[in-house]
Amino acid sequence: MYIISACLLGINCKYSGGNNYCEAVKNIAESHSHIAVCPEVAGGLPIPRLPSEIRNGKVYNNKGEDVTKFFIDGAENVLNEAKRRAELSGEKIELAILKSRSPSCGVNRIYDGTFTGKLVDGDGIFTQLLRKNDIKVVTEEDIDDKF
Ligand code: SF4
Repeated sequence: MYIISACLLGINCKYSGGNNYCEAVKNIAESHSHIAVCPEVAGGLPIPRLPSEIRNGKVYNNKGEDVTKFFIDGAENVLNEAKRRAELSGEKIELAILKSRSPSCGVNRIYDGTFTGKLVDGDGIFTQLLRKNDIKVVTEEDIDDKF
């Protein structure tokens, strides 16, 4: 079973109220068991919501409010649900396909916390939790013919 960022499948859960639809990811989802997740919404944040970025290990929205707890709660909720679904169906969680650069779902590169579009090395909060649980993570930008 794959974990997939819901916004990549066209679900309007992005902070702006839109999505990040990716046809290559949608094609994978059509032929592989998966769970579509949005950790930020699962943590109790609304749609739309203020954009957030990670700075010094914490998550702040663009008004300077610390929203770290929503991100951590959401990541844990989503992973627990994915584990529960995998156990019910007798599958393993093989891979997570995540939205690049998001403060939740970003892999290897995220925005630097200044809301100026600058990228730094790092993972989103959900991605950090997945790695701690030994779940392989990729982004929509890593999708190629091997899928
Ligand atoms: Fe997409 Fe992840 Fe952001 Fe939700 S938290 S909108 S799934 S990138």
